[in-house]
Amino acid sequence: MNIVFMAAECAPFVKVGGLADVVGTLPPALHRLGGHTVKIIVPHYGAIDDARFNINRVTTFKMAWNQATTRVEVSHTSHEEIDIYFVRGWPFFSADENFIYNFDEGINVGRYLFFCAAGLEWIKRLAKKEGWLPDLIHLHDWHTGLAAYLLGQVYITNKILRGAATLFSIHNMMYQGWGVEWHLIRAGLPLVDLPLLRVMGKTDNALAIGIAYSTMLSTVSPTYAEEISTMEGGYGLDGLLHARTLRMTGILNGIDVERWNPATSKAIPVRYNVKTLDKRLGDKLALQAELNLPEDGEIPLVATVTRLVDQKGIDIMIPALRHILLNRQMQFVVLGSGMPHYEDAMRQLEAEFPGKAAARYTFNEPLSERIYAGSDMFLMPSLFEPCGIGQMIAMHYGSLPVVRRVGGLADTVDPQTGFLFGPYDMWALVGVMNEALDRYQHDQPKWQTMQKAAMRRDFAWESSARRYLDLYQDCVEVHRAYA
Ligand code: ADP
Repeated sequence: MNIVFMAAECAPFVKVGGLADVVGTLPPALHRLGGHTVKIIVPHYGAIDDARFNINRVTTFKMAWNQATTRVEVSHTSHEEIDIYFVRGWPFFSADENFIYNFDEGINVGRYLFFCAAGLEWIKRLAKKEGWLPDLIHLHDWHTGLAAYLLGQVYITNKILRGAATLFSIHNMMYQGWGVEWHLIRAGLPLVDLPLLRVMGKTDNALAIGIAYSTMLSTVSPTYAEEISTMEGGYGLDGLLHARTLRMTGILNGIDVERWNPATSKAIPVRYNVKTLDKRLGDKLALQAELNLPEDGEIPLVATVTRLVDQKGIDIMIPALRHILLNRQMQFVVLGSGMPHYEDAMRQLEAEFPGKAAARYTFNEPLSERIYAGSDMFLMPSLFEPCGIGQMIAMHYGSLPVVRRVGGLADTVDPQTGFLFGPYDMWALVGVMNEALDRYQHDQPKWQTMQKAAMRRDFAWESSARRYLDLYQDCVEVHRAYA
């Protein structure tokens, strides 16, 4: 099968969250299974370090745009034997921009509409040049929803693109991309006129358009697949998902177990594996020293690595931590960036508990790894969590997750490997943290049994990649049947 990924993020080139991890690691896993060709197309953001990743321009071409023509520039690199193409064209994704997402959603909709159009044009040209046909285009999140629309509306008779089925993966239902119509008119493209979207008032919403126009849909955990078709989790699109429920599947993300491996990683001070767990102490003491916390192997070290946004449960985490830090022996470490009011609240917590709480407000992958290796517990009290990658990396490093029973957290953590709570409430979080702290302090044998069980869980991509291949096959068959 010839598979093309289109997405707004792809690790290691451009990463804001878990979307990048999936787009960067699923294609190599598919490639390792053999017999398929996978290529990736992402926007060529100015923030990408071309020199570091050996990204070079391969071609430019003209494309009709905004009642005129624009010149699309395509660059390329290869990574783990996968071809990755980066597209830009004036005035979108210029080399001078140093951001990934603009703060203004309307501006982003224009940028990603351009990305979808230019990406499809590039697939058309590349496939023709190299003599292959795309079987499946795997789209991710609202940024690429309009590619499904353009395929169904503009390229429906195109010899190369008409045979391509689409799988649309939802990584986060909350981000939807409103304001499509104005940009379609400006670009000289037809307006969305599908009755299903018209009756629901969603013809202006890129995520809804992607859901309606793609051959099949997936999301990143079975539980999240159910949650997004409820009023609480659907963010206004649950009705639309009901209409397409037979085409929806939930497949858990994996993690890159080569990249994230405490037995071989050069980024952590002391390497260890499931049989040499006691060596983790070296990582814990080094982390405490690095963050100016008292170096003490006995005191439980609780950590989180997260975007500081509403989704991640920061509003219940802060009062719960304040209560526990006041009442118990514990150290707390946070690495995160995001909404200023959450950063301020964390700074306040740091000031109240010197020597017990330490924070870093940046995006720092090497430090995140030292935290996964040096912490005893990993906190993720999310309001909602499509899959969550942090808790899987934490388990893989022997740091036990303390999580809310939602979405992918419910699908990946169980009482053998971590601690779960239900209600979105600070006292429910305090309760489960007390349980975890008691276990750590009074029952080390049981704690270590849990650590070993967590480290032995299989989070490699392989089994999920096989499920994606089956789903791609279904998509191709459905597309052919309806064509
Ligand atoms: P989301 O995609 O909603 O942000 P996930 O748990 O799926 O949440 O993925 C988050 C990923 O980003 C994890 O790999 C985590 O380690 C990483 N991450 C989040 N914040 C930071 C940070 N400040 N520094 C380094 N890595 C981070």
